[in-house]
Amino acid sequence: MTDGHGLDHEVVIVGAGFGGMGAGIEFRRQGVDSIAILEREDDLGGTWHVNHYPGLAVDIASVTYSYSFAPNPHWSRLFAPGAELKAYAEHIADTYDLRRSMEFGVTVERAEWDDHGGHWTVHTADGARRTCRYLVTATGFLSQPHTPDFPGMDSFAGEIIHTTDWPDGHDFAGRRVAVIGTGATAVQLIPELARSARSLTVFQRTPIWVVPKVDFPIPSAVQRLFERVPLTQKAARAVNTSMLEALMVFGVLHFRQAKPGNRLAALLSKAHLRLSVRDAGTRAALTPHYDFGCKRPTFSNDYFRVFNRPTVALETGSIARVEPDGLVTADGTRVAVDTLVLATGFNLWDVNFPAFTIIGRGGRDLGAWWRAGRFQAYQGITVPRFPNFLTLNSPYSYSGLSYFTTIEGQMKHIARLFGELRRRGVDRFEVTEEANDRFLQRATRNLQSSVFYAGDCSGSRSYYFNQHGEATLLRPDATLTTLREQARFPLSDYAYS
Ligand SMILES: Cc1cc2nc3c(=O)[nH]c(=O)nc-3n(C[C@H](O)[C@H](O)[C@H](O)COP(=O)(O)OP(=O)(O)OC[C@H]3O[C@@H](n4cnc5c(N)ncnc54)[C@H](O)[C@@H]3O)c2cc1C
Repeated sequence: MTDGHGLDHEVVIVGAGFGGMGAGIEFRRQGVDSIAILEREDDLGGTWHVNHYPGLAVDIASVTYSYSFAPNPHWSRLFAPGAELKAYAEHIADTYDLRRSMEFGVTVERAEWDDHGGHWTVHTADGARRTCRYLVTATGFLSQPHTPDFPGMDSFAGEIIHTTDWPDGHDFAGRRVAVIGTGATAVQLIPELARSARSLTVFQRTPIWVVPKVDFPIPSAVQRLFERVPLTQKAARAVNTSMLEALMVFGVLHFRQAKPGNRLAALLSKAHLRLSVRDAGTRAALTPHYDFGCKRPTFSNDYFRVFNRPTVALETGSIARVEPDGLVTADGTRVAVDTLVLATGFNLWDVNFPAFTIIGRGGRDLGAWWRAGRFQAYQGITVPRFPNFLTLNSPYSYSGLSYFTTIEGQMKHIARLFGELRRRGVDRFEVTEEANDRFLQRATRNLQSSVFYAGDCSGSRSYYFNQHGEATLLRPDATLTTLREQARFPLSDYAYS
């Protein structure tokens, strides 16, 4: 089957998470029906399909962490558990008839622009290739798991479990468990494991700022109200989003001008730690020495308290080697372990950005170009010399604290761009070098006020920073600015043909 111009598809979208689905919804709105959504996993949902470890939940309240045009009145809690996000993703795919475009178990390895033919050729791991007019990458930020390579890891006789490959229903009773990592996933998982494990040792390299999580079940009367009077849920979303926005804008982006707000958040976390953990030494070890906001903030009422349990230990020595029945730290401490849990997160900057080889006009290799120079993308979505290409998970694309702000801004961008293509009766676009440079310079300038540059982020090991030490993930703009610009960017920022 072709798109009517001899190509296999009009649009290929890589990734079937909320990003890929948002793009699919927008292309359908634009009247494009020849869409293939290629996904390497066996089902849709991205993050929320892959991750199902105990304790998984959103850390942005669910009224906000959802598409604004598809509210779900049935969230069971203020912060919905992961399984509800997976169900929501399925509901979206059904509502917007996206499943018929999806192909699972398809890993994209490479894409090349054919300047003569004006199309992309997409190569998949099964050796097949397909052509399309437009290529969209929606491969996620947190989608390439990082597995550490400690000496002796292969010799470990027990089980090794990465949090992205969780064995559902696994029984930890009687087990001596070690968790490596204390990021956002570990903060959710550790209290769950501590309930059943015989012993739990938490290996911490970098402490994390944790603030209390104000979470509760949403009463069925409120769910019914949300369903019958959608305006009430819209109002709840507006209130919650505004609070998050204030945290983001004043605590992170305008750190230089609004330090007290940032310091207040750090104080709240310190007070939470003081009230939760009895042992002063443990408290000291759990206290971060970088500014609040350098890393994505984390919310939990249980995480700190876990360290009062006699069966839970915090280990801050770096891991020197793994032995068949345990871990040895640099100072020679030996910890007996039979189940090793890797809460070691994701590799963003080395193997993502982009997630596969992308060759644009004149043979430019996107990944090599980003790494050799600076990571950049106009409005966090298009790149010069990459015609007819939209990269949803790109430098400066992540806007605000909820991912849905990002994708909805990008959907507006797609709508404006494809509206202009239709108006001109053409099918090719490419962002100009000038527009891209202007956007990059502004992002660079705005970031100077952020906690990333005006604060102290040394030692935070935050994924907001790339391998060059630049904070190139977050878009340093208020949400309203982002949404406005995505809907109204100058059309002359693109060349059309
Ligand atoms: C545990 C966890 C909790 C999170 N909680 C929150 C939260 O509370 N709030 C928030 O805003 N964000 C949160 N995030 C971030 C979350 O990833 C985003 O909110 C959002 O789900 C990203 O959607 P996406 O479609 O961009 O990427 P993903 O959901 O990661 O989807 C990308 C898809 O692309 C596929 N893919 C990648 N490479 C290829 C390839 N080469 N070929 C084919 N398919 C490929 C992947 O398999 C994946 O299905 C969380 C992330 C994690 C890991």
